[in-house]
Amino acid sequence: MRVTGEAERRASPRSASRSRPPQKACGVAARFPEALDRPLKSDYEFVILGAGCSGLSLCYYLLEEGVDAPILILDRKRTFEDDRTWCFWDVEPAPFTHLALKEWRSWDFASAGGSVTQTTDRYPYKYLAARDFYEYVLTRLAESPNVTVRLGEDVGDYTEENGEARVETSGGTLHSRYVFDGRGLPPGSPVFEEARRGALWVPQKFLGLRVRAGRAVFDPGRCTLMDFSVDQSRGLRFVYVLPTGEREALVENVYLSEAEVTPTEHRAEIRAYVKSTHGLASDEYEVLGEERGYIPMTDYAFPRRLGERIHNIGMLGGETRPSTGYTFLRIQRYCRTLAAAVASGVEPPKSHYPCRLDLLDSLFLRFVRERPEECPEVYRRMFAGVPPDHLVRFLTEKSTPLDEARLIRALPKAPFLKLAARALLERLPAMGP
Ligand SMILES: Cc1cc2nc3c(=O)[nH]c(=O)nc-3n(C[C@H](O)[C@H](O)[C@H](O)COP(=O)(O)OP(=O)(O)OC[C@H]3O[C@@H](n4cnc5c(N)ncnc54)[C@H](O)[C@@H]3O)c2cc1C
Repeated sequence: MRVTGEAERRASPRSASRSRPPQKACGVAARFPEALDRPLKSDYEFVILGAGCSGLSLCYYLLEEGVDAPILILDRKRTFEDDRTWCFWDVEPAPFTHLALKEWRSWDFASAGGSVTQTTDRYPYKYLAARDFYEYVLTRLAESPNVTVRLGEDVGDYTEENGEARVETSGGTLHSRYVFDGRGLPPGSPVFEEARRGALWVPQKFLGLRVRAGRAVFDPGRCTLMDFSVDQSRGLRFVYVLPTGEREALVENVYLSEAEVTPTEHRAEIRAYVKSTHGLASDEYEVLGEERGYIPMTDYAFPRRLGERIHNIGMLGGETRPSTGYTFLRIQRYCRTLAAAVASGVEPPKSHYPCRLDLLDSLFLRFVRERPEECPEVYRRMFAGVPPDHLVRFLTEKSTPLDEARLIRALPKAPFLKLAARALLERLPAMGP
């Protein structure tokens, strides 16, 4: 991550909470409690691979379930950088919601076909900085004598034999009764490549700049979820703007396409956007930080289990919503359920979501893949035709059949029906006699 300045993050009064950790300067890594760096043993009850969103969340939920058996978390990174921002709709209680730095109850959508503003009192859109999440969870983990977190450990293979799992790390071999693999889905990794080859696949590639302007130009009362009124010549593209104050915002440039866009090009596109929409020249703002990512949107069936004792979690376990790329809420839901199941010795459920949503997801994904030039208009119809609370419930997989009916009513019928018919035909041979 590139950091060229420092800023105090401002907390909105609504998001303040007594249990919230003190806010740190933007770009500073989360504090790692020394108490977690305990000497390694050779045997654990639970080994969690990856101290990212899913690995830390799962450990947090295991502790909440009262698990006091030894837990080891391994990660190859050496620090907890403020490397991403999680946004999600506040549709249900979650232990990390109060950490959100900012929330919006109004959001904009824009495309060449027009713009829409939606407002809700019910489901605010929350902004959670990775550093605040890491620090809060690590502090909680450090209160438990049974948790060890080892950084700088590169994890290799693992196997399951005779009722235990063996994990090979850069530091040697470890034994554990259960392994949870939350090492994410980095581009080029074997699972990433297998999914890319074997399923519908739309890359979501983005780069965001956290900017601070010399004057008040942003409206902190609303965010821009998607602005498609930008150049579309290199593939489906939108800009996402999250103002955290009148002078500060995270501005992200997002491609839903295979276009090879370099970081320099992303930055230039953001600069051009900020100039044209907010009248800010490059020398009128500083860049406080940067984040970037590649989130695969795919209907690949990621295996959740690799044996009796090995579970995949997070993006590796298929927690990214195929039609949107949103992952954070799904990770929370699955990790909480998994922890409860493991703690009480029962099988975790295979899926949380009704299969009618799988079908809708796969149709949206196909649409983005095959008819990208029509997407801005489809999204516009969605934002214009579906009231915000119904839309949020659909986007967070809490929709009722009535919400979904409203969504379907807002969409153009002919292209979706054609895609649905094709999807069905393709599935028929696989269904078999
Ligand atoms: C910049 C960015 C912004 C995002 N914003 C949102 C958002 O707003 N809303 C949303 O819903 N989703 C968002 N996502 C998607 C998703 O929520 C995150 O990627 C989330 O962090 C995924 O969690 P995870 O646990 O699967 O992986 P990660 O959080 O990436 O954790 C994986 C961990 O595994 C470690 N690791 C990898 N390989 C090894 C190895 N061989 N040995 C040891 N350790 C290893 C890594 O160092 C890392 O710490 C965003 C993603 C990115 C990249």
